[in-house]
Amino acid sequence: MTSDPEFRRCPVSGRWVILAPERAARPIGLSHAKPAVRANAERAVCPFCPGMEHDTPPAVYTVGPGPDWRLRVVPNKFPAVRDGTGVHEVVIETHRHETDPLALTDDELAGVFVAYRERLRVLSATPGVEHVQVFKNVGAEAGASLAHLHSQVIATPMIPPDVWAETENAAQAYRQTGRNVFHDMLEQPSRLVAVADGFALACPFAPRFAYETWLLPTAPPERFEAVTDADCRAVAKLLRRFLTALDEVLGQPAYNWFLHTAPVRAGTPPHYQWHLEILPRTSRPAGFEWATGMFINAVPPERAAAALRERMPLASTTEASASEVSAPEISKTGR
Ligand SMILES: [Zn+2]
Ligand SMILES: [Zn+2]
Repeated sequence: MTSDPEFRRCPVSGRWVILAPERAARPIGLSHAKPAVRANAERAVCPFCPGMEHDTPPAVYTVGPGPDWRLRVVPNKFPAVRDGTGVHEVVIETHRHETDPLALTDDELAGVFVAYRERLRVLSATPGVEHVQVFKNVGAEAGASLAHLHSQVIATPMIPPDVWAETENAAQAYRQTGRNVFHDMLEQPSRLVAVADGFALACPFAPRFAYETWLLPTAPPERFEAVTDADCRAVAKLLRRFLTALDEVLGQPAYNWFLHTAPVRAGTPPHYQWHLEILPRTSRPAGFEWATGMFINAVPPERAAAALRERMPLASTTEASASEVSAPEISKTGR
């Protein structure tokens, strides 16, 4: 692999990225320039803990009885959008005051994805809603303002540009090649991280951040609203293995994850596939990124995938064969 900078266009989003491995060696002179480690130091009483229910609006979805709740979804007390312009909810993922997703049991983590599905189903059927965005910020550097584990759901009356770009790019690729760009991701062994129980982890061809990884199913359903409880358990197990590996490689990075599923009224197009994008905050978007929408990434996804793969035990047969195939596969995705 050469270390010369390389332009890559993401076949899913259409976004351009500059892979510049030599950037990793540049001198870092400012003490807060390295954002990798997630900060969760707290300075106030937690409004998401049991006993503080009066501090949030009444729950719209609950797991567990009354005061013994295990997970709650509440309307955001400080919403970015409101009735008529959208819906903003918070998924409080556990009654325990935990700050690391790895502190959740497999059942709890699966329950988070079940909650995502349930809110997606309800909000997608709400008049005026065109898209429902589920996302999670882990660590202050990733935008979290409260440490107690939570995700957020924002329903909007329009299709956001990035979601629109994905569906349009995927549709165009499908028209031109007959291929689903998400299925293509599963057939690139050099960027495949793990496959287990019908789900895969893969680094995208043109990642914005070093170690950016996507989780996606290897078979239908195309829409996240249609996943089963068993699917959510499989996602939780694979995600736990991945987050453990990510912590080993990067030392507790701050990160975001978000769920992309086709817009509410897009049906189940053959060119699209729901997926969870996981973005470790390995660098800070700066002037160039804000100016152009193009990202500079110092770690090629093939190298990131190899490092993560090494740290994910219980490799399936698919993973074993993945590690035997190398470089020539890469050029095929350059369209
Ligand atoms: Zn708390
Ligand atoms: Zn996406």
